[in-house]
Amino acid sequence: MNTLSSLQDIVDVCERSPSYVRAIAPYQPGKPISELAREIGLEEESIIKLASNENPLGASPKALAAMRAALDEVARYPDGNGFELRTALAKMYGVAAARIVLGNGSNDVLEMAAHAFLEPGASAVYSQHAFAVYPLATQATGAAGIEVPARDFGHDLDAMGRAVRGDTRVVFVANPNNPTGTWIAADRLHAFLRKLPAHVLLVLDEAYYEYLDPGLRSDSLGWLEQFPNLVVSRTFSKAYGLAGLRVGFAFAHPQVAGLMNRVRQPFNVSSIAQAAAVAALADQEFVHKSRALNAQGMLALTTGFKRLGLSWIPSYANFVSFKVPNTAEVFQRLLRRGVIVRPIAGYGMPEHLRVTVGTGAENARFLAELEAVLTDLR
Ligand SMILES: *Cc1c(COP(=O)(O)O)cnc(C)c1O
Repeated sequence: MNTLSSLQDIVDVCERSPSYVRAIAPYQPGKPISELAREIGLEEESIIKLASNENPLGASPKALAAMRAALDEVARYPDGNGFELRTALAKMYGVAAARIVLGNGSNDVLEMAAHAFLEPGASAVYSQHAFAVYPLATQATGAAGIEVPARDFGHDLDAMGRAVRGDTRVVFVANPNNPTGTWIAADRLHAFLRKLPAHVLLVLDEAYYEYLDPGLRSDSLGWLEQFPNLVVSRTFSKAYGLAGLRVGFAFAHPQVAGLMNRVRQPFNVSSIAQAAAVAALADQEFVHKSRALNAQGMLALTTGFKRLGLSWIPSYANFVSFKVPNTAEVFQRLLRRGVIVRPIAGYGMPEHLRVTVGTGAENARFLAELEAVLTDLR
């Protein structure tokens, strides 16, 4: 076959991809350290990545030990039902194991919710500046995405309630939200749930739950009994420090969980990830340490922003979005100095950059480089 006809073939085959798939704008991840090292010829050790809300403490030593032990069994398929991990989660949270769905990261459970409930002709509601996976997961099913304007960068729940249409099957809410760090109080969320039609699923994404002060947390799991249309998702990627392993979970009514499991890959969570997650869950000391370090670091960053005369969006998570003039240029100059933060123009916030709270040393380095960049640009 000559080159010309194979070119035509590839056009033909791609044109048969559904238009809603072709319309998807790819997810833009934070730049990996290795990539920046290759691009600018810096040593990897001299680069700090504060771009993907990863845990600067790494992972629990207990989780690491469990992973090493699990290596010996790697020739075997994982437990497709995730019995041990679901049992451990059920015990820890006082929720029946039948209500727990495991995911390859919580991204996976968000997609399962979308695939189990959305289709062309249906719609999903989410907020402006909300986590990028909601529109992606929605579009991949051919359903329509309804983006509701934010209010002070946070979810406008009243407007989101009004945006629900006859064909709406799912509403996505992130609490706290990424990349804004905004938080919704329990009473407001509960009122929203009470008003939501019972046939509309609320997918409540609590990826940063562990970073919240205990007094600010919703009793979202307690609401499951009253609201069969509630799905709560959590993850081991953030406070548990296991982002590279890909393991997350959701709580839902057993029948909703059953539907989500039907669209789940049979072995979506690896054996190593399952073993690590069980051990990580048992090490709440590590989670407490992570939250305490984050609170300290958040204070250091915001104190630094104040000193530099920059404004920021008060954040309840492990990152903070701040406003700088010449945003794209500041981002590039920080890269050249070995500091990776996250531009969020793709989230409709072209004047902000998002920085993840790092260790004390990383936060100080970031602030020093940011100050140098701003001085150079003045
Ligand atoms: C990071 C994040 C997730 C989780 O990502 P996974 O690694 O797939 O668990 C989910 N929701 C939000 C809002 C996030 O920021």
